[in-house]
Amino acid sequence: MSTEILDHPLPARIGRLNKLASNLWWSWHPDASWIFQRLDKTLWELTHHNPVKFLQQIAPTKLEAAASDPAYLRHYDGVMFAFDKYLSAKDTWFPEKYPHLAGHTIAYFSAEFGLHTSLPIYSGGLGILAGDHCKEASDIGLPLVGVGFVYPQGYFQQRITSEGRQEAVYERFDYNAAPIEGVITRESEGGLLALNLDERVIYVSVWRVRLGPVSLYLMDTDVEENEPWDRELSARLYGGNQETRIRQEMVLGIGGVRMLERLGIRPAVFHANEGHAAFLMLERIRGLVQRGMSFDEAAEQVRATTIFTTHTPVPAGHDTFPFQLVEKHFASYWDLLGLNREQFLALGEYSDGYNGKNFNMTALALRLSGMRNGVSRMHGRVSRAMWHSLWPDLTEDDVPITSINNGVHTPTWIAPEMDRLYTKYLGHDWRDHHDDPTLWERIYDIPDEELWNIHRQLKHKLLNFMRERARRDWIGEGSGPIRVLTAGTLLNPDALTISFARRFATYKRAMLILRSLDRLKRILHDDWRPVQIIFAGKAHPADAPGRNLIAEINRIARDHNLGGRLAFVENYDIHVAKYLVRGVDVWLNNPRPPLEASGTSGQKAALNGVPHMSIRDGWWYEGYEGANGWAIDPSVPEGVSDEDRDMADAEALYRVLEEEVVPLYFERDSDGVPRRWVQLVKEAIRTSAPLFSARRMVKEYTERMYVPAMSAAEKR
Ligand SMILES: *Cc1c(COP(=O)(O)O)cnc(C)c1O
Repeated sequence: MSTEILDHPLPARIGRLNKLASNLWWSWHPDASWIFQRLDKTLWELTHHNPVKFLQQIAPTKLEAAASDPAYLRHYDGVMFAFDKYLSAKDTWFPEKYPHLAGHTIAYFSAEFGLHTSLPIYSGGLGILAGDHCKEASDIGLPLVGVGFVYPQGYFQQRITSEGRQEAVYERFDYNAAPIEGVITRESEGGLLALNLDERVIYVSVWRVRLGPVSLYLMDTDVEENEPWDRELSARLYGGNQETRIRQEMVLGIGGVRMLERLGIRPAVFHANEGHAAFLMLERIRGLVQRGMSFDEAAEQVRATTIFTTHTPVPAGHDTFPFQLVEKHFASYWDLLGLNREQFLALGEYSDGYNGKNFNMTALALRLSGMRNGVSRMHGRVSRAMWHSLWPDLTEDDVPITSINNGVHTPTWIAPEMDRLYTKYLGHDWRDHHDDPTLWERIYDIPDEELWNIHRQLKHKLLNFMRERARRDWIGEGSGPIRVLTAGTLLNPDALTISFARRFATYKRAMLILRSLDRLKRILHDDWRPVQIIFAGKAHPADAPGRNLIAEINRIARDHNLGGRLAFVENYDIHVAKYLVRGVDVWLNNPRPPLEASGTSGQKAALNGVPHMSIRDGWWYEGYEGANGWAIDPSVPEGVSDEDRDMADAEALYRVLEEEVVPLYFERDSDGVPRRWVQLVKEAIRTSAPLFSARRMVKEYTERMYVPAMSAAEKR
């Protein structure tokens, strides 16, 4: 394994394309992605915007032509200049504001990172949030490293069969065609990382992903030195049984800390994104106990420098292990912490009312971190209630779990067309100030027609994308004619287009809008005011109810009475999400409250001028301001049954659609522009874009948690 990702021979004049392809910085700078794209547009599409693969496959004649094309070279030089400037920038937010803290490092642990389609190491919202967090850290100059896994079989690709069922396809990850480089390999000095866990050694190789100056270190147990079952540990994200899971999490938490040591990285602060990585806290305590501290002193120090973010308001959604499984794997470990069996198990003990007492990873993380948060104001409140029993002496309001609202990485999610529009009206440096609410007051300077026309272009792009996918499947694998139709080929660019795109977990209630099909048909088929719905999302392969929902929606979509106005796009991932959040007219979210912790897809949509129609839950609980979208908010008494709640919510959803959304969308002036609709779109952008950005979020983590933790670390 070479340490350079690419040593592809390129004409010398454009030789640094290798370097650019090896750093995901290009993926959130449209000028930089254009520099690949313009070399061979078709190949760029065929390689799914993966520049590593792209450079490996491109015809040498095209590279030679570019190397002597003055227009290309001007563009190339401009991008390389910007890239170098970015990598060496000293005037970003963090070093400017906290020059005395610049030498500290934050280690951010997460089981998944959603960065780009070329790295299948995420399943959904949690991973994308982690990816956005790291990209933003890079943008504001925060000294952060990420720790996670590379999954050789990735997360699955979803295919919808001719019968409308989800099929999970696992593709082996091609290490040579991804933007990663080996940093701990068999050939490294000292060889692979050898983890001594419960008497058996697991060997780990480590890969690096570069995001500007930020590095992500990904561990991989799929090496020949390991027993087959250990090679499988990192095979799949959220795969395997409890035994696999606990060992996977031991590698993530314990292995992650040891890996950083081996790399010579000494973080001042550790941040665990969700409970999967909580063992990192034990491993840090072990290190301090070994250096002579008591358990209590060590735990105190670890707490002062550890941040934990919980994401799950569903009690059954937390990671738990039976005590005997924990004992099996930690029997030789608690001694090293200076604890006995009971004291050790007590660190994770929790009774969730479902499975009795278990070792709960969230409880462990809450007990061993000093700063804890949920991901929206509502979720903070829900978390305090849910974990009150860990602090029985405090009132619920005083339970030490605060909240920091999620946000999305603006440069990643903004459509290039919207970016140009904002550049024109908000200023060429709008990206530099995009978390400043006053910047967005200028949104009213954008002429309605211009905003509306760009939106129509983006919608056109989405429908084209869906049609071309359907065509490719039709040609290639012979999906049946009905599947071609439900893939969206009959969608109408003039119809009000609603998207419901998210993981198919039952609490998200994908079927809510389909509850009364007769009423829905009347809404969809109004001759003058047609409406259509695009569904997308994966169900975990082990989640039978989730898979059934997908089959049920596809069954309904085939009903000819619906006229092809329901579509299902397969394989919802970052790539598909980008088309959807930019191209539909309304973003729908209707979870059973309060089970949506945040729901960041609606934030991506709002940034692109796609207003949110949602239950007041997650981010929308505080994001909704009356004129920036719609709240589905029936007054339901506390404690009603789920069935009654669903009925009331469906009724409210239909009513908002019929009485507010549809009439507003089709109210046009003589130029065909829906003035009042565009007004609402502007309000959605103005209120959401600054507050629900990853920039606001990462700055908040920094000020409220990282900086205090860094100061605590300095005192030691
Ligand atoms: C943003 C995103 C999510 C998370 O969005 P939710 O609103 O939490 O469902 C999930 N999957 C993909 C592909 C995304 O882009």
